[in-house]
Amino acid sequence: MESIAFLLKMIEMNPFSARPSFFIYYFKGFSVSEIQAAREVFESHGIYNVDFVREFELGEDCYNPVRRQYNADCLLEKFSDLIIEGADKHIFIVDVDIYSRGTNFIFGLAELDGRKAIVSISRLKIRKDSSGEELYLKRLKTEVIHESCHLLGLNHCSNPYCAMSFSNSLADTDRKGESLCVVCMSKLEQIIEGYGL
Ligand SMILES: [Zn+2]
Ligand SMILES: [Zn+2]
Repeated sequence: MESIAFLLKMIEMNPFSARPSFFIYYFKGFSVSEIQAAREVFESHGIYNVDFVREFELGEDCYNPVRRQYNADCLLEKFSDLIIEGADKHIFIVDVDIYSRGTNFIFGLAELDGRKAIVSISRLKIRKDSSGEELYLKRLKTEVIHESCHLLGLNHCSNPYCAMSFSNSLADTDRKGESLCVVCMSKLEQIIEGYGL
């Protein structure tokens, strides 16, 4: 019954059809509640084309045994091989501690206005009671939205309560939370509106 013309009309009417699409890759053991939390982040910012595509193995190539951490720049490079075509942006969630040149550690790293980002849950984890779980998921959301916005072209923000401010510590992450300030939100809206045009 449904003709192709009807389907095309549906796509045209879907306000999200031109939205940037994301694929999320995750380490083995990433849980359903974590996945749900990450998905909510996108929904709350109007980015609906999100798919969790696959588990992946890290390997040891980017491990620095002296620092006992993984080099995030090296990982981002390697993740090129894991990308499945079909989305604009690709986010890799890892459970190991990561660093970038000139830092002790980082929560995540993204190619500005690029394709790939990495988010580490290693330092977001806290005690395993119910309130701890809630705080952890809030942190996960905050860091996922931060790196996603970098992927969409947003830079760091000087407002310490904005998700796009730089986190040097968990205190920073907890203070800023997952919301964007009005300036960053309007930038994001402009970017998303211009997508696919
Ligand atoms: Zn950042
Ligand atoms: Zn901001």
